[in-house]
Amino acid sequence: MSAVLDELPRKPPEAPGDAGALLSLVNRAAAPAWESAGPGYLAYIPGGGLFTSALADFLAAGLNRYTAVAALAPALVALEARLLEWLCEEFELPGGAQGILTTGGSMANFMATVAARAERLDDDPAGGVAYVSEQAHVSVAKAARFAGIPRERVRTIACTADLRMDPGALARAVGEDRQRGLHPFLVVATAGTTNTGTIDPLPAIADIATDSGMWLHVDAAYGGFFWLTERGRKLLVGLNRADSLALDPHKGLFLPYSTGCLLVRDGRSLGDPLLGSAPYLRDLATPDGLPDFATMSPELSRDFRGLRVWLPLHLHGLGAFRDALDEKLDLARLVYETLAADPRFEVPYPPDLSVVTLRLRGDDRENNELLDRINDTQRVVVPSTTIDGRVFLRVAVLSHRTHRERIDDLLAIVDRTAEQGLSQRGGTVP
Ligand SMILES: *Cc1c(COP(=O)(O)O)cnc(C)c1O
Repeated sequence: MSAVLDELPRKPPEAPGDAGALLSLVNRAAAPAWESAGPGYLAYIPGGGLFTSALADFLAAGLNRYTAVAALAPALVALEARLLEWLCEEFELPGGAQGILTTGGSMANFMATVAARAERLDDDPAGGVAYVSEQAHVSVAKAARFAGIPRERVRTIACTADLRMDPGALARAVGEDRQRGLHPFLVVATAGTTNTGTIDPLPAIADIATDSGMWLHVDAAYGGFFWLTERGRKLLVGLNRADSLALDPHKGLFLPYSTGCLLVRDGRSLGDPLLGSAPYLRDLATPDGLPDFATMSPELSRDFRGLRVWLPLHLHGLGAFRDALDEKLDLARLVYETLAADPRFEVPYPPDLSVVTLRLRGDDRENNELLDRINDTQRVVVPSTTIDGRVFLRVAVLSHRTHRERIDDLLAIVDRTAEQGLSQRGGTVP
């Protein structure tokens, strides 16, 4: 890698450069990296990046239309707006719901926190308390921080043994904060945690939110698009009760990075139309029924990100996405069932979606060694995590390029490397 680093120019030249040499440099700089677009990438949350989406980006950048304010490109804004209307309908939000495409789930979580603060605290964070589970994504704490909710008023709610937010613990914490004279205003449930893919008990959490007047944000950045499948829709029951919902098309729709989405039940809670006004915009009347995205988000100028979602969906058809998501659920099941039947492994958490965690029966050191040997094969990338303080290997299946063949490879590699480890330790299968 250092060879490429040494080659990177410190500043642009005065005279034109050589296109071939520059492209070659870019390619060499891209080489020392994790192959995160490949079928063996089972790490973190894979985002394969559909080629057709890259084409849409190329087109969008070439057109370079201004889609932050509807008057400047009304039909393209309508294209993005219809896509968002469809998403609101698909996720069974009522009329008056509104969506916006963001750079990712973190931005969606942040904007949802700001909307909750506006709606439930009249924008004054003093005394407001937010509730998240101990398995919530770190972006939820970041969102609170940037929204001016101090850390000591973000409560971490314990999970039950199956790693779901404990609704009883939530209700108790809300009650205690009320007694103290504080204002519980936001609960963030996760529909598919990043760590283990687990879905929080959404109906029970939604009931508590309704009873206590809290805003319910569901962070479905990883798991949300499984809603497109029959199985996913059953597992994600209650998702449609969210006041706001974070989704990541760059995960569950296989799009390139920097494509997130926020849907809100009441579109009026997103931003403020006045936030888009300025004296020099006075000539621009917003066309009827079209959103000015600039009024709903901290961003003004933006890429025309709607096209990169719209083109693949219309070109490949929804069925292709449903099938791909179903396939990922099947593959995760296969990993779970194979290893759960193998006495060498501990697989205590049946996957809700497409993340499977496993460990060799043994200590953390042996599991770290197993991990290294698996990754040394360079056929798959598998990271580790900790659950209740113990090391687990974590397999996340979500790239559209990951199919049965690669998962069979993974299982063969896990089998072989575990056997090597066991023979080195001189142990036998328990
Ligand atoms: C990935 C993820 C996020 C963060 O999304 P980015 O798009 O990376 O900003 C938030 N929540 C969950 C559950 C996630 O899996």
